[in-house]
Amino acid sequence: MNVLVINCGSSSLKYQLIDSLKEEVLAKGLCERIGIEGSQIVYQKAGGEKETTVAPMPTHTEAIGMVLDALQNEKTGVIKSLDEIGAVGHRIVHGGEKFAESTVITDEVIEAIKECNELAPLHNPANLIGIDACREHMPGTPMVAVFDTAFHQTMPEKAYLYGLPYEYYEKYGVRRYGFHGTSHNYVSHRMAEFLGKNIEDMKIIVCHLGNGASVSAVMNGKCVDTSMGLTPLEGLIMGTRSGDIDPAIVEFIAKKENLDIDGVMDVLNKKSGVAGMSGISSDFRDLEAAEEEGNEAAIRTLRAYEYRVAKYIGAYTAAMNGVDAIAFTAGVGENGPVTRTGVCSYLGYLGVKIDEEANQRRGADNLISTKDSKVAVCVIPTNEELAIARETLRLVR
Ligand code: AMP
Repeated sequence: MNVLVINCGSSSLKYQLIDSLKEEVLAKGLCERIGIEGSQIVYQKAGGEKETTVAPMPTHTEAIGMVLDALQNEKTGVIKSLDEIGAVGHRIVHGGEKFAESTVITDEVIEAIKECNELAPLHNPANLIGIDACREHMPGTPMVAVFDTAFHQTMPEKAYLYGLPYEYYEKYGVRRYGFHGTSHNYVSHRMAEFLGKNIEDMKIIVCHLGNGASVSAVMNGKCVDTSMGLTPLEGLIMGTRSGDIDPAIVEFIAKKENLDIDGVMDVLNKKSGVAGMSGISSDFRDLEAAEEEGNEAAIRTLRAYEYRVAKYIGAYTAAMNGVDAIAFTAGVGENGPVTRTGVCSYLGYLGVKIDEEANQRRGADNLISTKDSKVAVCVIPTNEELAIARETLRLVR
């Protein structure tokens, strides 16, 4: 069955058509600048060249229409009619406490997702628009919602409660939810499989280090803690997000810089992280190049970044009373041997030993620790689209 995977943002839409039985991507791409002048669709058939078409897309409905047309294009398309799309899988950012797993989309589910909008005001409404647009074009096709938060719903109360008045949790749902759940779920299971072990018997730490970054502790296949919180701002130092800070800094900066709450939040979300710390870039390729040239700002930023990841690994080892395996994934985790070495340099006390030759290797699943390392350290490329396609297939079958 072909599954169309949709990841809808406020002005963009990423898509992949996946043959979910063969687990092969048939075509993929994205629509950009939806609702803005200069909107365009990028389309790439498997093994083909990227094609970019500029076309007006006032709303997501037109964008989905363009995607479906591209998939059925006589020359470069991969399907003859929409009947060849068996189901659609939607990435939904926030499922609150309502969704501990993926679910088939019904009117009731849409209402329940809307109730979570307050928790992710930038993301959930856009995700819902994507669902509406797909329903308009493919009214009879089953659709599934796959939530970024769902995998973390197994966290115990002691891990998800903040040190705040309890009534804020009861009244407003202020608690830690965690994000990147689809990736943490996929990578932890894949790592157990790769190591030939049963995930039910393992203590795993997954470091999802991309533009957004988070760490999770997965014990016996269930998430017991993760570094992001009510929103994806908590935890690690990220590309442009601050991660953990003293909450009093909000007031301090507001006064010093004469900013209101929105202004400070903008700084914490968009002007902080490695970009703000270094003044160079949010992209680790730029930071690593600057480090090679001896740039002091790049050096101190990268060391602070690695240190924060190592601190979380220490904390989660304590939370699980041990760790059997550590996985690195996402843009930096998969492609940054220097960052991996930097993080692992703090883990000698756990008996972690890195095989530097293996660490330099690129590509698929890769064991980067030595044979006598007490903890297996791996690079496991994440594949959120495939995970969404698998969930979709499981639920509509
Ligand atoms: P993601 O959010 O998972 O797509 O990760 C994107 C980030 O991965 C980029 O902003 C870069 O910082 C990082 N990245 C991608 N490729 C490389 C590379 N070859 N070396 C180091 N970092 C990389």
